[in-house]
Amino acid sequence: MDRKPYAIAIDGPSGAGKSSLARSVAREIGFVYVDTGAIYRTVGWAALRRSAEDAAAVAALLPEIRITMDYGEDGEQRMYLNGEDVSEKIRLPEVSMAASRISALPEVRSFLLDMQRSLAEKNNVIMDGRDIGTVVLPHADVKIFLTASVEDRARRRYQELCQRGTAKDFEQLLREIKERDYNDTHRAAAPLRPAEDAVVLDTTGNTFQQSRQQLLDIIRGRVGL
Ligand code: C5P
Repeated sequence: MDRKPYAIAIDGPSGAGKSSLARSVAREIGFVYVDTGAIYRTVGWAALRRSAEDAAAVAALLPEIRITMDYGEDGEQRMYLNGEDVSEKIRLPEVSMAASRISALPEVRSFLLDMQRSLAEKNNVIMDGRDIGTVVLPHADVKIFLTASVEDRARRRYQELCQRGTAKDFEQLLREIKERDYNDTHRAAAPLRPAEDAVVLDTTGNTFQQSRQQLLDIIRGRVGL
């Protein structure tokens, strides 16, 4: 590669479709897709398993955990906690809440920063998360803030969990998404907000294909791919 790798940052609230859209678009343009939520979820899972409830207990846990990742033959990102494959466990709803809780801690955020940045140094990436355009990759070539109404997001999450066979009460999911939105936007450390130079894409009412096309158009309009 004779130029520095391309970096595309996608941020937005839970359930806006970031992961599935970013994964699909990355495949189309031949970039590596990095799901940073999965990295935070891995720390959340470690905190749950070790019953690390408060900030001090979570901070004490960090030196003992080693997080690694790779891509399976199907191209899916897999997460490992001290060598154990936790890719399925981190998708449990209780881990979503734990990830939201631990992600407010500055110690956790700085612990994970280098890992995320070094992935973007070596590869053309589409990275999704909450602070990619604002903190992790402030010089990204394209920044997108992907959002949708809270009801639309809860509906999508509900369908996703049903497909995985871990269906949950819709009203409870809606409450949890609102709670995570509140946590993610009100924390002092790297709160969720659009970067000043981000393109805001609201996918409320869209089909997956419509959002995917809009995302591709924005990316192709910004970088000559
Ligand atoms: O995207 P996902 O729902 O998997 O992320 C789980 C949680 O991890 C989010 O609710 C958020 O609190 C946290 N997170 C974060 N910063 C990121 C990615 C995820 O704080 N870059």
